[in-house]
Amino acid sequence: MTATTTASEQAVRPEVQALRGYTEQLVAIRSGLALLGWDQKTKLPRKGHADRGRQLGVLAGVLHERATSPELGKLISAVEDVDADNVEARVMRRSYRLSTCLPAKHVVEFTQAAANANQAWEEARERDDFDLFAPHLERVLELSRTSAELYGYETEPYDALHDLYEEGMTAAELEPIFAGLRDPINELIEQQPEADVSALTRTFPLASQVEYCERIAAVMGFDMEAGRIDETVHPFCSGVGMHDTRLTTRYQSDWLPASLFSVIHEAGHGIYDQGFDRLGLPRTIADAPGLGMHESQSRMYENVIGRSRAFWELEYPELQRAFPTALGDVDLDSFVRQINAAQRSLIRVEADELTYNLHIAIRFELERAMTNGDLQVRDLPEAWNAAYEKWLGLRPPNNRDGCLQDVHWTSSFGYFPTYTLGNIYAAQFVEACEAQIGSFDDHLRRGELGPIHGWFDENIYRHGRSFTGREFVERITGGPISPEPLLRYLDGKFGRSA
Ligand code: ZN
Repeated sequence: MTATTTASEQAVRPEVQALRGYTEQLVAIRSGLALLGWDQKTKLPRKGHADRGRQLGVLAGVLHERATSPELGKLISAVEDVDADNVEARVMRRSYRLSTCLPAKHVVEFTQAAANANQAWEEARERDDFDLFAPHLERVLELSRTSAELYGYETEPYDALHDLYEEGMTAAELEPIFAGLRDPINELIEQQPEADVSALTRTFPLASQVEYCERIAAVMGFDMEAGRIDETVHPFCSGVGMHDTRLTTRYQSDWLPASLFSVIHEAGHGIYDQGFDRLGLPRTIADAPGLGMHESQSRMYENVIGRSRAFWELEYPELQRAFPTALGDVDLDSFVRQINAAQRSLIRVEADELTYNLHIAIRFELERAMTNGDLQVRDLPEAWNAAYEKWLGLRPPNNRDGCLQDVHWTSSFGYFPTYTLGNIYAAQFVEACEAQIGSFDDHLRRGELGPIHGWFDENIYRHGRSFTGREFVERITGGPISPEPLLRYLDGKFGRSA
């Protein structure tokens, strides 16, 4: 690895080398923030939260100062002057522009408000008490709306915030995508047999879950020597540093999918992150270009691979060995049917892949309305419940299973649509990948994930954030972003012909 790095360093211009050097300092500070944030959500004693919020605020201020310094602007310009098309300069220019839009005071206030909101949300969710969370949500929303004004937008404030997660995508583009998914998915839901998940609600000893989750992450391709798995309230993956990627999950002794599929999902994110380090990308571009692209990988591992019969043909005996009492008498077909049971439900993180996009449509609709000033925080619980009735025909019995279920709005608006974009990208990439390497099922049946990893290394990971999600899709498929491959995939899996 050292030889490769040295060779590539020798090949780059001194201007680029200087930009990379500065970026490495930014990344180091970001690592500190990531580690404190990871700790806040996994290990931190309850009484330590207030001071942690302060620590994060101070450090975010330091990062902001460095990320907006005239020195960095000059380093970027120096590269642009000698190489107008330089990709590293282009992605750093965008980051620089986004960072310099916001005054340091605003960034510090936001970070502190988000940390406070996170703590309030955990307590509000536990007690099913929206009023505990509402003032914090109002504060984060108010600061987010200010951010949108500072970033600027053409049509609506929401676009400015969504652009942070998915460059160039607008609410006006997203609306018809969601609308186009609604009817086909509802027709497929109608075709589903009564869901039976009885085998998955038996007793799964926690120690065995912890052990098996480490195994399944590694089987998927996550390098456990360059990462770890810990427990949290709301699972996430955090790229703390080079060769240090943290997955988190939650364990429920009477519901195996809570840990099993959140670990596979987060491992998908982790595999993407670990790819940048494995392939030796410079820190300037060692990231996904947006969250939709990141989500395309987590969703692919979780659903396309992790819920396929082909994958479990080889792996299921191992799972049975881990949980002999619960699964010893459950055959492969029953298990595969149960992990693919699809029905209307209230909780997004436990929703099946068929109904999942409708949960996202609801959140897109509500956060767009809040950001644009069309929905007040105090009216959120009722709006949430009404939206669930409209899209899924269900009404949450309480806010804990309603608008308090997700952590996202403690720190961000405009994030949710990236989940559905991830599903759409994943389906487009899988079709393109299969056209080249043959069907996923054939590889999975033989336990060979190598060709799949290789294709994604070559076509996506090695480019880092050199292209936007839209550009990746265009390069790989030769066409535009389209929900059609996703609908074909869902129809193949959940349709009458399946
Ligand atoms: Zn994810």
